[in-house]
Amino acid sequence: MRKLRAGVLAATGAVGQNYVHLLRDHPWFEITFLAASKDSKSFEEAVSARGWFMGQDIPADVRKLRVFEASNLEAALDGCDFVFSALDKDVAKDLEMKYAKAGLPVVSNASAYRGDPFVPMLMPEINADHIRVIPAQQRRYGFKDGFIVVKPNCSLQSYMKPIHALMAAGYNVDRLIVHTQQAASGAGRPGVSALDLIDNVVPFISGEEEKSEREPLKILGSVDNDKGIVDYEGLAISATCTRVPVRDGHLASVNISFRGKKPSADQIRLAWALYRREPQELGLLFAPDQPIIYRDEPNRPQPVLDRDSGNGMAVTAGRLRECPVFDYKFVCLSHNTVRGAAGGGILNAELLYAKDCLKPR
Ligand code: NAP
Repeated sequence: MRKLRAGVLAATGAVGQNYVHLLRDHPWFEITFLAASKDSKSFEEAVSARGWFMGQDIPADVRKLRVFEASNLEAALDGCDFVFSALDKDVAKDLEMKYAKAGLPVVSNASAYRGDPFVPMLMPEINADHIRVIPAQQRRYGFKDGFIVVKPNCSLQSYMKPIHALMAAGYNVDRLIVHTQQAASGAGRPGVSALDLIDNVVPFISGEEEKSEREPLKILGSVDNDKGIVDYEGLAISATCTRVPVRDGHLASVNISFRGKKPSADQIRLAWALYRREPQELGLLFAPDQPIIYRDEPNRPQPVLDRDSGNGMAVTAGRLRECPVFDYKFVCLSHNTVRGAAGGGILNAELLYAKDCLKPR
């Protein structure tokens, strides 16, 4: 079986480097096209300005690959079957549309099209069925073979699966208070200045709270043939997002309340333990076997100890206890540049591939 040829847009940044690193030896996809803000003779040269900061060397088959300016659509059409986009939202708005119009599927990390009801915002354990909106998207924008799918903001990766697991088990979560403590790598590379973050917590991340309160409603929404994805209306969220001096791993403290039947703590832990969804049933390679891992120790989860669980693709939850104001509270964690960025994008592409939406061109 020939591997699909994948491109990475913004391959030199924090998310782009994670794509290059995580896609090494992937059995379904191989990197054949790279793009950044300007042309370079090789990836090695392009990445030298920021430095390569993954734990292993640059994969040998990517090291010498030429890097194109991302606006070079001809090179992209020549070089790959689909692209992963790690572009910044302002650049993504224009370029992702051009790529899709030219016939290339775009699996994006950027926020540019997250609000578009015809663009699925995938967390495959929760809403794999949202890919059904792709034909309507193609009609709406006049795409022939191209399309855009996005993944949500990294801040909500840690708590959306635990919440959805409870909903899927028949408990109506109706209100959430979320306080995130987000890692430095979430701001890209070089990102936040060390002097702003060492010995400090920054209680503001531009746009993050709005995304944390809005995006879950689309993720939980339903597909309507005429309107696209219609937001779920049964959940109210209040979020506070902070930046903390942690390298990788976004932690969230969550308070939840239920409408109607309230589960016991044991029932909540059981719902999390049994949570298996379409990515697990389809055997997607980046799908963690155990999507939600509950730790009984009173001092877990911790970024340093738990961010790599399930190869960085699982959520670790802990500290479930009754809340004197809401019904329960707990703490959860996910790896922001793996599950929250490149790993999440790869899982989305694997879902599309398994569902015949990604094909050789
Ligand atoms: P970053 O480390 O600052 O990297 C920026 C990347 O964009 C570089 O590869 C840069 O290439 C490229 N770029 C800049 N201007 C460009 C242009 N005009 N055309 C093509 N490429 C251009 O940023 P990041 O953290 O990787 O974030 C990338 C995207 O992913 C953003 O949309 C962000 O919101 C999203 N995201 C990030 C995270 C995370 O944890 N970091 C999580 C989820 C989503 P040069 O090297 O040539 O400048």
